[in-house]
Amino acid sequence: MASKKEELNFILIPFGAPGHILPMIDMAKMLARQGVMVTVITTAMNAIRFGAVIDRAAASGLSIRLLQVQFPAEEAGLPKGCESFDDLPSYSLFMNFFSAIEMLQKPIEKIVADLSPSPSCIICDKHFPWAVELGRKYRIPWVSFDGMNCFTQVCAHNLSLTKVHETTPEGEPFVVPNLPDKFVFNKSQLPGFLNPGQSSDLGVIRERIKAGETEAYGVVVNSFEELEGSYAEDFRKLKGGKVWFVGPLSLSNENNLDKAQRGNSAVTAEEEQRLMEWLDSWQSETVVYACLGSLGRFVRSEFMELALGLEESNHPFILVVKGKNKEDIEAWISEDGFEERIKGRGLLIRGWAPQVLILSHPSIGAFLTHCGWNSTLEGISAGLPMITRPLFAEQFFNEKLVVQVLGTGVSAGAKFGRKIGEEERPEMGVSRLEVQQAICKVMDKDNVDANERRKKAKELGEMARKAVEEGGSSYLNVSLLIQEVMRLSRSKKQPENGI
Ligand code: UDP
Repeated sequence: MASKKEELNFILIPFGAPGHILPMIDMAKMLARQGVMVTVITTAMNAIRFGAVIDRAAASGLSIRLLQVQFPAEEAGLPKGCESFDDLPSYSLFMNFFSAIEMLQKPIEKIVADLSPSPSCIICDKHFPWAVELGRKYRIPWVSFDGMNCFTQVCAHNLSLTKVHETTPEGEPFVVPNLPDKFVFNKSQLPGFLNPGQSSDLGVIRERIKAGETEAYGVVVNSFEELEGSYAEDFRKLKGGKVWFVGPLSLSNENNLDKAQRGNSAVTAEEEQRLMEWLDSWQSETVVYACLGSLGRFVRSEFMELALGLEESNHPFILVVKGKNKEDIEAWISEDGFEERIKGRGLLIRGWAPQVLILSHPSIGAFLTHCGWNSTLEGISAGLPMITRPLFAEQFFNEKLVVQVLGTGVSAGAKFGRKIGEEERPEMGVSRLEVQQAICKVMDKDNVDANERRKKAKELGEMARKAVEEGGSSYLNVSLLIQEVMRLSRSKKQPENGI
């Protein structure tokens, strides 16, 4: 039993996808900065890709380390070295990925058994439903990490209770019941766990995840209390009080190299410097940054509409190129002469972009985002207004939060969602005109609404920064979580859940 804070050992186990690993690595630093030891357990390829930031944090004196577990890719029918969701050659393999996650239980148990100092708490992605058994075995609390915000959770809860979406015909609008405002969706815009009919057979895994979650000791959320107000309160009530709001986690990256290497340890200081020079060449708040996350894979026509919308907006821009069929997209770029035409005004980043670094540059004036929760919160933290273009999962909920609740975004008008990996259909698209109009609406310097939006976004950015500073709400939430684990560790009586 640890009797001092320094003796606590927090075990963090992230799920293999950038949107899950990155916030957990950020969280590791936030915890370690408050004086506890943190052990992150991940697979070899992910350690290489995401580990530089941890190594630097350790070298700076934080008590933080990264341990590796072998990922059973080939046993699960995945290509060798495929250890992150965004590496999957096809999303038809995602059941194989979940099989590999199941197989990690034993080797991770072994690592945990051999740990010194012994573990005090496991913070584990909810996609590891076996974490509950791990917590029980070592008689320590397991706290689940849920990548979603409270607004989404409350909407999802109200829909699950009332089943309004199930009784509404396909394509028809419905309102989420029992909320202070009117939020309208159609069924295709709901995440798979509310709309399982159209998705692949993930039912069994979803049930296991749900069951695991109900046994977790508590939940950590990448959000901050001031941002979500009554939704944060409602979520806390739903979870019986044991919720810690510890975000925005990306703000744990304070220097440019950490920001540049977040998600790609191979980025060099020279590459970072070149990008900074390009950004420095623009006046403040003039550049639009467009990136649709780590998992969205566009087909040619969809990419083309986005690219042409950006071009026709006449604002300087950065566009991150990620394609389902990269050759096809590259073929369009060169046949159309797009890259040539935008030279000097537009920058294409192929593959991984150092998003947090870019967003924090003063020349960025708006963020065109797919509304993944990490990206959305990163945009909020950077004090930026947003152009929203959700694709799948809970991204349409995040769009509503930004556009309707916070008032800092303009929707590009996506009407229908898809399931991850599903082919684009014409009705899912957003036209170049819609993209262009949404950008111009947000970037307009002479428009009262645009200025109001920009002002609100800056205020939120300031609030986000304060939340993670010493004495801020998220800083205090991290302290409270540590105190809770300390109390449990000292106490003879163990918690009833999660052990
Ligand atoms: N990201 C990045 N560069 C990229 C693509 C994504 O740094 O080229 C990061 C982004 O900053 C965010 C995460 O990857 O932290 C993506 O998570 P999010 O929840 O926004 O979306 P997902 O990729 O899971 O759909």
